[in-house]
Amino acid sequence: MQGSIKYVDGKIYLEEVGPECTSVRYQLKEVLHSKQSPYQLVEIADSYDYGRMLILDGCVNVCERDEANYHEMIAHIPALLHPKPQSVLVIGGGDGGTVRELLKHDSVHSIDVVEIDEEVINSCKKYFPDLASGFNDSRVQLHCEDGVAFVQRARMSQYSVVIVDSSDPIGPAEGLFTKEFYEACRRVLDDNGIIIAQSESPYVYPNVLRQICTLFSDIFPVAVPYRIVMPTYPSGQIYMMMGTMDKHMTKSFENSRTDNFFAIHSDSLHYLTPDMLKSAFNIPGDMIRLLEREEI
Ligand code: SAM
Repeated sequence: MQGSIKYVDGKIYLEEVGPECTSVRYQLKEVLHSKQSPYQLVEIADSYDYGRMLILDGCVNVCERDEANYHEMIAHIPALLHPKPQSVLVIGGGDGGTVRELLKHDSVHSIDVVEIDEEVINSCKKYFPDLASGFNDSRVQLHCEDGVAFVQRARMSQYSVVIVDSSDPIGPAEGLFTKEFYEACRRVLDDNGIIIAQSESPYVYPNVLRQICTLFSDIFPVAVPYRIVMPTYPSGQIYMMMGTMDKHMTKSFENSRTDNFFAIHSDSLHYLTPDMLKSAFNIPGDMIRLLEREEI
């Protein structure tokens, strides 16, 4: 998607235009922050319908109204499937939402966040204090650098979970969608290790999900996609690709750890429920067929 903020007849709009002929337009109340970093244009605005938005290079990356959908699903699916997640690597994720959710798991004692753009972290700390609250936790280490280089240097089998919480595969995030990068991620995962990668909407970019699915199937013993309802992503949804080193992984969340998690955290969850976990990996038939096809 390509987008920009426009001023028309005294009103402010953010318009994102897709690769085909569809565009999405949000009316904004006010632009609170706008700064060109070395990597991207970082903007924060208040919108009428979706609350406050983080907009990178003209595209909504996070917004108040549906951020919980994304962050709960990207963090708790791997954290509840891994038998004992202790050390987690988040690549991207400079808004802090993924970290905020991961910190709800007591077994997690260390989270490395590798965000290339310090400007994203600083502006989210200022304008999204709840989202970025986890950055002050002593279990969290922030690294402002390219995630590709960080993973290549990291120790073997160091992490229980790797989460690729990236922006679109253009600009700085391009390297986070490659075979070499996912192979480097495999090396740093432990024997039960799980990786989750943001894989775009297949209704808008069918090839992105198909390519990541093929790469994951080649690289990890088990590879499976799942879907998140996201009103502010183009087509209203986004897919995640999950890979795991545990070839016997059952995809079942029915255990006492999951029960305890919901007993303690239900009140702070907006999207995820125990019933949703039961069907987390069910995707619609047209997407199953898309992933089976050799070419579009
Ligand atoms: N929920 C979001 C989405 O999919 O729209 C992703 C949120 S998070 C803000 C994405 C972050 O990835 C951005 O802050 C961006 O700076 C960061 N990023 C992009 N390329 C990166 C790279 N090569 N290494 C580390 N972080 C990167």
